Amino acid sequence: MFESLSDRLSGIFDKLTGRGALSENDVNEALREIRRALIEADVALPVVRSFTDKVRNRAVGAEVVKSVTPGQMVVKIVHDQLVEMLGTEAEPLDLNAPAPVPIMMVGLQGSGKTTTTAKIARRLTRRDKRKVLMASLDTRRPAAQEQLKILGEQNDIDTLPIIQGQGPVEIAKRAISAAKLGGYDVVLLDTAGRIHIDEPLMVEMADVKAATRPHEILLVADSLTGQDAVNLAQSFDERVGITGIALTRMDGDGRGGAALSMRAVTGKPVKLVGTGEKADALEDFHPKRIADRILG
Ligand code: GDP
Repeated sequence: MFESLSDRLSGIFDKLTGRGALSENDVNEALREIRRALIEADVALPVVRSFTDKVRNRAVGAEVVKSVTPGQMVVKIVHDQLVEMLGTEAEPLDLNAPAPVPIMMVGLQGSGKTTTTAKIARRLTRRDKRKVLMASLDTRRPAAQEQLKILGEQNDIDTLPIIQGQGPVEIAKRAISAAKLGGYDVVLLDTAGRIHIDEPLMVEMADVKAATRPHEILLVADSLTGQDAVNLAQSFDERVGITGIALTRMDGDGRGGAALSMRAVTGKPVKLVGTGEKADALEDFHPKRIADRILG
């Protein structure tokens, strides 16, 4: 049976009931459990280390108030620290710019970029009553542009007409012009991915960015990314400069550690969460919910 971190911490501290302040020894024993739980939740190792340091600083010497047990108190410190590192409040997409607002989607192949592009377009259209144009800049995978077109048709969202032979920058510029001409509020640019991060991908992303000056650049990442999350987020942030993260497949078994890792290394907020394959399976990111999930 899987025992939650909260239960394990309460177990450690049960024997301490009645003492005044948490000692370094008590806290160290708890930190071992916290470390284990974070690694199980796929939080990257450097982030685990900085997290446990912060918890140690907060917990050692803290007076245990009468109404709670020491275990409950450490669980609260851990929870609060998680929420703080995850960003405390949900941060929505920023559309506060002259129309058409360009939003660029970046990420590895298979991360859920195209699906998330369509989900965002659908939400902006249905809920926020914006006029949205989607364009696929993926000229590497033959079916990619067609895939976005089909998603557009299924969800009643306009897509940029496909012209064979154009490169990503050309398509991106055409998308911006078409969005201006057509009176669109938002233009979503779904870029090409790769299996791994490589130099040509980063050059392509930088070129598209320079040509379109996106107001938001969202890194789409699979929540099951694990230890690679740090490298992924760092690379895209350093080379392209992301403004936020969309975390996909949160409907799966993942505990959401990637959210903590990516937020910690980039300082950029997780803005959206994908919770299924369907076009309406998109939610705002709520730090408290992820903290609960990581704590188990
Ligand atoms: P891309 O290569 O990054 O554009 O990835 P796709 O958008 O084509 O998605 C790859 C696969 O992941 C597809 O089968 C999607 O239906 C699926 N997918 C995307 N987002 C989610 C999600 O939040 N939950 C689940 N369960 N599947 C997703």
